[in-house]
Amino acid sequence: MARLTRDAMRGKAQTVLGLIDPAELGSTLMHEHLIWNITPPPERDKPVAEALDLGQWWDLQTRMVKDYRNSTQLDVGVATRAAAEVVQHGGRTIVELTIGGLMPNPEGLAQASRESGTQIVMGCGHYVHDYQDPANEGRSVDTLAQEMVDQIQLGAWGTEVRAGLLGEIGCQWPWTDLEKKMLAAACLAQQETGAALTIHPARHEDHPWMLVEFLRAHGADLSRTIIDHIDRTIFDDERLFRLADAGVILEWDLFGQESSYYQPNPDIDMPNDAQRLRDIRKVIDRGHGDQIVISHDICHTVQLTENGGHGYAHIYKQVLPLMRRRGFTEAEIDAIMVGTPRRLLTFI
Ligand SMILES: [Zn+2]
Repeated sequence: MARLTRDAMRGKAQTVLGLIDPAELGSTLMHEHLIWNITPPPERDKPVAEALDLGQWWDLQTRMVKDYRNSTQLDVGVATRAAAEVVQHGGRTIVELTIGGLMPNPEGLAQASRESGTQIVMGCGHYVHDYQDPANEGRSVDTLAQEMVDQIQLGAWGTEVRAGLLGEIGCQWPWTDLEKKMLAAACLAQQETGAALTIHPARHEDHPWMLVEFLRAHGADLSRTIIDHIDRTIFDDERLFRLADAGVILEWDLFGQESSYYQPNPDIDMPNDAQRLRDIRKVIDRGHGDQIVISHDICHTVQLTENGGHGYAHIYKQVLPLMRRRGFTEAEIDAIMVGTPRRLLTFI
């Protein structure tokens, strides 16, 4: 397959079905998973076809009780039906960030896009340390960067399906050397391809600022770099405003999680949707309305509508109406759902 040159990609966005005019992206969810396996690699030797026990819905959704049937979704038909809900409710594009370590399925995403009518933009690179192939420890920054460049320009994970942005590059706490190497590689790949970069920060309130310093030192374009999962990471205005003032994009991507309990870090209070909107309001009022994106980061089967969950259309069905009731203007909503995603997903 021929390599797409940077010139061929500049000014365009790239879905799993090919290059498109960014004007076609429309309303975009910037951080989702449609086909994934977030079961920790040492626990993956289990059958995956068994149905979820929906009698445990509350425990699975709000207490995040571990269940491999909840943390694994490899069915293309399920992904297709779920993706279709987005277009049915006024969305147009899903950014799908299942990358190395999470069992990415580019051809499955292409099929789901074709059959659902929802555009899908795929990420690339590798997730957090504990999910990575141990072989990555021995690979150089340049090799890892070239792998990401190839995933964007040639095709990803042995397929001809190309990625449309970098990430979600994963970080744990403490931040590991392997993860720093991966992020340095992503910064190089950003410079080489003109793609946006999206980062899963470690679960520590100081880590996003460590990322900003790292990104600056490695020549990243902060205006094209997204700090994910703000909802579970930042809990005070000072840290929030400092990040916004630095010029990075802030992503509230856990919409639909309405419980204050957060199993991966029970020491924090997870905000609900209303509280997320209050923080977003503050960032807009500070003048950073063009640095905000939102999503659901669905990665548990209990969150799918066919299992009684909020699903990928929750933002369209519940959150945008709530924003209007809370006084967000159409221009502010349009910036979050359309304008900023379009700017980020357009190759420069
Ligand atoms: Zn994610």
